[in-house]
Amino acid sequence: MDPFADTLQRLREAFVSGRTRPAEFRDAQLKGLSRFLRENKQLLQEALAQDLHKATQLDSAFIRKEPFGLVLILSPWNYPLNLSLGPLVGALAAGNCVVLKPSEISKNTEKVLAEVLPRYLDQSCFAVVLGGPQETGRLLEHKFDYIFFTGNPQVGKIVMTAAAKHLTPVTLELGGKNPCYVDDNCDPQTVANRVAFFRCFNAGQTCVAPDYVLCSPEMQAQLVPALQSAITRFYGDDPQSSPNLGRIISQKHFQRLRGLLSCGRVVIGGQSDECDLYIAPTVLVDVQETDPVMQEEIFGPILPIVNVRSLGQAIDFINRREKPLALYAFSNSSQVVKRVLAQTSSGGFCGNDGFMHLTLASLPFGGVGSSGMGNYHGKFSFDTFSHHRACLLRRPGLEKIYAIRYPPHTPRNLRV
Ligand code: NAD
Repeated sequence: MDPFADTLQRLREAFVSGRTRPAEFRDAQLKGLSRFLRENKQLLQEALAQDLHKATQLDSAFIRKEPFGLVLILSPWNYPLNLSLGPLVGALAAGNCVVLKPSEISKNTEKVLAEVLPRYLDQSCFAVVLGGPQETGRLLEHKFDYIFFTGNPQVGKIVMTAAAKHLTPVTLELGGKNPCYVDDNCDPQTVANRVAFFRCFNAGQTCVAPDYVLCSPEMQAQLVPALQSAITRFYGDDPQSSPNLGRIISQKHFQRLRGLLSCGRVVIGGQSDECDLYIAPTVLVDVQETDPVMQEEIFGPILPIVNVRSLGQAIDFINRREKPLALYAFSNSSQVVKRVLAQTSSGGFCGNDGFMHLTLASLPFGGVGSSGMGNYHGKFSFDTFSHHRACLLRRPGLEKIYAIRYPPHTPRNLRV
């Protein structure tokens, strides 16, 4: 019998019910804590004295942001320049030395980063190292003071396991399946323009791309022709010849994506060309929750539509799955958008658009749960790459005031 199971289940159910979220609830709990301290002062003093024989007293304090030391940045292939230089800016700004390991898959950018970038930086403090999984595994045996990883969740676990051996802190910027809820109360063409654009951006190889649509069958009937119209407007009748549509990075990913085209029923696109690593912008309907296309991050220009009967059912669907990196809700009703926001969890959220939230330097960018931990962008990058050192400076004098701390703690002593 597990002695913790009941308690943990009770607390998790309470969290899921939303009980801990209203400000009044949190206020009441903190007031309860304060009352606990006030009403049990004597009891607590006795307990602390028996356990530890001590008490502390603090003055005013400040935080000193200091560089961690030697930082490792591991970056992916899908935005190989941005996702190398973005974290690098934060790491250098905070005063760290940096080892950058770009993805071996985006090999041309890797080459430029390795051969040209170091010429622009002080090479005694900065290095680019090269390699794939095997070399990175060897690199990770070394002790770093911080590791910043962007990539998929499976590799994230490898990185975190390696970091744990040295108790090295990590930021993990991972991926997952980003839901896109489309309410019945919306303009289907506007939604289709935005969803199609953000789904097909970089041929769908974007960690925050809308991964699948949740909507009613009635909305689906309006959305499919609207998506077709948007795709034709963006990429023409023959998207393969459009200069505005990217290609799949490798044979391996192409084969994986082609396999997903057999899920559900193709209503838009569905064509592919192996020689050109081309996958057409594709929309799938009649998709089941158990289909392969709903089991993994798609990372390509394929958009499955899953039918739900109500907003509540959509929220349940989202909450049954791993926490996504981004979540999108489209509705003319701000109440609906706010309800999706309030009753779900995700790294970031955008109402009535695609991944615009990540373009704002005023917002932290990062995942939660299996989509990652930690965040960066703008000032948050500087904070991520800084140790927040808690400091207290005390004047050497005033010893009479501080003498109250010293034992023996008799009533007479305490009068000062
Ligand atoms: P990846 O995890 O395969 O590779 C990322 C880095 O890890 C590369 O430098 C690679 O060389 C290294 N690596 C790969 N396998 C390894 C292993 N077994 N051991 C040690 N190191 C290894 O990711 P990817 O395919 O380059 O990028 C796509 C993934 O990244 C997607 O899941 C996407 O969602 C995610 N991503 C997340 C963000 C974000 O900001 N959250 C941004 C872009 C991409």
